[in-house]
Amino acid sequence: SALIEARDAVLSFGATPALRGASFEAGPGEIVAVMGPSGSGKSTLLHCLAGILTPEKGEIRFDGQRIDGLDEQARSTLRRQHFGFVFQFGQLVPELTVEENVALPLLLGGIRRAGALRQACGWLERLGLEGTQGRRSGELSGGQAQRVALARGMINRPRVLFADEPTGSLDSLTGEQVMDLMVAAAREQGTTVVLVTHEPRVAMYADREVIVRDGTVHALTAERSGS
Ligand code: ADP
Ligand code: ADP
Repeated sequence: SALIEARDAVLSFGATPALRGASFEAGPGEIVAVMGPSGSGKSTLLHCLAGILTPEKGEIRFDGQRIDGLDEQARSTLRRQHFGFVFQFGQLVPELTVEENVALPLLLGGIRRAGALRQACGWLERLGLEGTQGRRSGELSGGQAQRVALARGMINRPRVLFADEPTGSLDSLTGEQVMDLMVAAAREQGTTVVLVTHEPRVAMYADREVIVRDGTVHALTAERSGS
């Protein structure tokens, strides 16, 4: 059964329709790539699934519960407790140190600073970033910054990781390194991943691909074997 699901979601920005009855589901631990042309509604779908946007019609469910009717505060709590995020430009806070950036979801969740920073350093080590913890995140290379963003996205052990063009600002080798690490971390934690990308090479990392066209979702390939 689905862990995260959209049913017939409809959403417009003013006169611009972004979703026109979009349905999507991902099971526990499943990695699903969301492909499709620019402007087709991929990010809007991700934001609806993640409780960042609320569709005008249709349903969003997480773990069987409707979340589209929740108010902003309840959705914010849900995101903090169960979801992780990695976006194209890591959205790190440049003035904070690397370890503070990674620890941020824990600090916002009320975890004590010493413990949060210790966990952050653990994640930095496993992503090959040992030694960077005291640096300002604004000093990092693009590939380092995306690995820091991945550590931050995973540190609260999310049920679902939402990744929107996570390799979009990287060269292909660096992008593959980030994807290898993302998939390994997700598999180990049993995290479901909703991966928005327009790059077929990146979509190859997923168990399954869907394609968004004009605000609706279509199956693209059958489940890949061996994963
Ligand atoms: P994709 O992620 O596939 O590139 P989006 O979901 O970002 O597509 O956008 C879908 C449509 O909604 C596009 O026509 C886009 O221009 C429009 N759109 C997205 N976000 C906004 C916004 N904040 N305000 C106005 N229009 C938007
Ligand atoms: P796009 O996909 O159109 O390029 P981004 O993915 O960069 O846009 O931005 C996603 C939007 O989601 C931004 O408006 C940002 O404010 C919001 N956002 C990013 N992270 C979170 C989060 N953890 N919780 C809530 N909202 C977030």
